Amino acid sequence: MAYFDREDIEKLSLLKTEPYWVTSVFLSTDKSLQSKKEIALNFKNLIAEGRNRLSSLEINKEIFSSLESDLENISQHVSLQLNSQHHPGLALFSCSAKGIFTTYNLPHPPRNRLVFDPNPYVRPLIAILERYHRILTLVLSRREAKWYKVFMGEASVVESLSSDVPGKVREGGWEGYESKRIERHIEAHVHDHLKKVSQRTFELFKKNKFDWLFLACEDKLLTDFEPLLHTYLKERLKGRIKAKIADTIEKIKKETIDLEIKLKKEEEDQTVQRFIAELEAGGNVVAGLKETLRQLNNNNVQLLLVTHNFSRNGRFCPACQLLFLEEKECPSCQKPTKEASDIVDEALGLAMLRNCPVRQITPPSKLDRYGKIGAFLHYKS
Ligand SMILES: [Zn+2]
Repeated sequence: MAYFDREDIEKLSLLKTEPYWVTSVFLSTDKSLQSKKEIALNFKNLIAEGRNRLSSLEINKEIFSSLESDLENISQHVSLQLNSQHHPGLALFSCSAKGIFTTYNLPHPPRNRLVFDPNPYVRPLIAILERYHRILTLVLSRREAKWYKVFMGEASVVESLSSDVPGKVREGGWEGYESKRIERHIEAHVHDHLKKVSQRTFELFKKNKFDWLFLACEDKLLTDFEPLLHTYLKERLKGRIKAKIADTIEKIKKETIDLEIKLKKEEEDQTVQRFIAELEAGGNVVAGLKETLRQLNNNNVQLLLVTHNFSRNGRFCPACQLLFLEEKECPSCQKPTKEASDIVDEALGLAMLRNCPVRQITPPSKLDRYGKIGAFLHYKS
């Protein structure tokens, strides 16, 4: 079963609920991190805190009672669901007055949070989506090929192909010229098969917008196959897994995900190393929350690095959309700032708003020693 996709996020973002508001809830249900009891308690606290916040909101009676029903419905739904929940996370969106109630299982635990807003709060879904690549895994033999799609920890067969390639020459069956001729004839069939497979792989890529290509085949076959790949595919061929045509989908899925995790970790390590090298050389980077917020405010961030699930409270100016650690008064408009329960999350939102790329780094990493957050800058300041 698929979790959710970019289209789901777009659909949510386009929901029309005016004048009513939407309640968005994210809950970590990862049983490897916490007991069932703890999950239930965390959820209870989240709803209780939500009720508190609701009573202090300056909104009219209709909006208020819609949000109140949201809390009731969400509370009921989650209580029933928790025991049988096998996914590490849960997201819920509700607008009772409009009859909207949508839930998603998440492949990765989110931060627990409850948000009341005129719009659905989809930022955590985007962050989760960014953790995963759309992978096409091709298992290839001399006469067969099978394509698998692996995304967000789920795998499915895309299609398979079987070509008419004659068997190998039996040893001692033929000799000399005749044997060589037959061998060449077979190799021509294999070549045609590989060409067909490479063509089909390219079509599947164009159609499904995959990010990465993984390949399972013998070394010898790779030597013949790789030159046949379109340049576009050569760039996206990220690695090889050990698998055969006859292997189960479970095996393909495991090998693919293991390689995805390894590549992602390598990519993160490289980014962090590049960051630290720049920092030590006095280059165009800043480290730590205070400096990073300042550069975000100045619109001077090229790439934001943040430790996954790093969180801290802070302050923001709603009028200027500026973020601060401590400032009680906005230095730009002199109006009082408001408290933000998670300023790191606000920073991610601001980055997203400005189309500034974000790399979430899985802890522990060397970024932890540099304040868990930092940025590559456009220009030195
Ligand atoms: Zn301001």
